[in-house]
Amino acid sequence: MIQSLAPYAVRVENSRGRRHVEQQHPYRNDFQRDRDRVIHSRAFRRLEAKTQVFTRRYSDHFRNRLTHTIEVAQIARTVAAQLGLNVDLVEALALVHDIGHPPFGHAGEKALDSAMRQHGLFFDHNLHALRIVEDFETRYAAFRGLNLTFEVREGIIKHSRDYDAAEHPELTEYLLGSRPPLEAQLIDITDEIAYASADLDDGYEARLLTLEQIREGLPVFAGFLREAEERYPDAAEKLQFNEALRRVLDRWAGDLIRNTQQHIKAAGLTTVEDVRVCGTRIAGLSPEIEQERRQTKEFLYQNLYFSSALEPEKDDAERIIAELFDLWMKQPEKLPSSYQEKAEQEPLARIVCDYIAGMTDNYIYEQHEKYCGV
Ligand code: MG
Repeated sequence: MIQSLAPYAVRVENSRGRRHVEQQHPYRNDFQRDRDRVIHSRAFRRLEAKTQVFTRRYSDHFRNRLTHTIEVAQIARTVAAQLGLNVDLVEALALVHDIGHPPFGHAGEKALDSAMRQHGLFFDHNLHALRIVEDFETRYAAFRGLNLTFEVREGIIKHSRDYDAAEHPELTEYLLGSRPPLEAQLIDITDEIAYASADLDDGYEARLLTLEQIREGLPVFAGFLREAEERYPDAAEKLQFNEALRRVLDRWAGDLIRNTQQHIKAAGLTTVEDVRVCGTRIAGLSPEIEQERRQTKEFLYQNLYFSSALEPEKDDAERIIAELFDLWMKQPEKLPSSYQEKAEQEPLARIVCDYIAGMTDNYIYEQHEKYCGV
């Protein structure tokens, strides 16, 4: 796509490049190729069978990690285009942003981290994503991993948080002291916007959240719902709900564009280097909308994520991951041979963690049944 880039956008011709030099493609630039490599990776396909919030016990209509990822990419592309940012890079970063997530959603991540801490290590999904694209994906004869450009690898690490250079000497090449480009900064916020609105939708459809509850807890939603009821008095409740929800999403995405533009202007940013040396992240919501988003997140924690209805899956996640982790630590000979070989170079706990983190919900259930009984 031909796009006119803002002066503070990342330009593909200025990329710091790949680890292994490759010939240019005749009609796809390097960020487009990175996006395509992510889409064609096995880890990307596995997102389909990883829980976002709801397992398939509820409905096939609900989001999984893959459809969540596609929604983030959609919102991020729209916002990036309005800001004159590099849409190809944004799309690659959005599509790869959750690739390091283990099975069982947030509960799985917590369980895997606790298992690792018992061995003096920890689990971090951004760092795991980097291991996937650098090492675990084996598609090409010339190198291991996907050989992604520096900017995509940097965004994988830095899109949602800063890492301390003293604690992570292995990440030094990613310029830990400086902010990531705006293309990466956008991913974290569009992720938040995407899941807040999607989880309200799925939570309502699952009947774990009622319209009254959402109306009472979230004034911004209540205002739009009132408008929808007045405009479409005869429409089904779910359609009125949809009308309200899409206005909330539009309001937040619009605010992200306007507020980021204002910040860019106020900080006088004219190059990517200006973005990097800026003391704070520039992409973000205005204080008023940030407050709405936080309120929505808290509402979802209280009424959905911590609800007793979702307890069985959380208990499963903790129990299954803990039991399998323990089993493979005690009997590493039961790991696939490729993982046993890796354990000669890295701590066994790290290798067991890598193996579990890559699994889909379906596969980990199968493994648990095979080794631990039901
Ligand atoms: Mg996400």
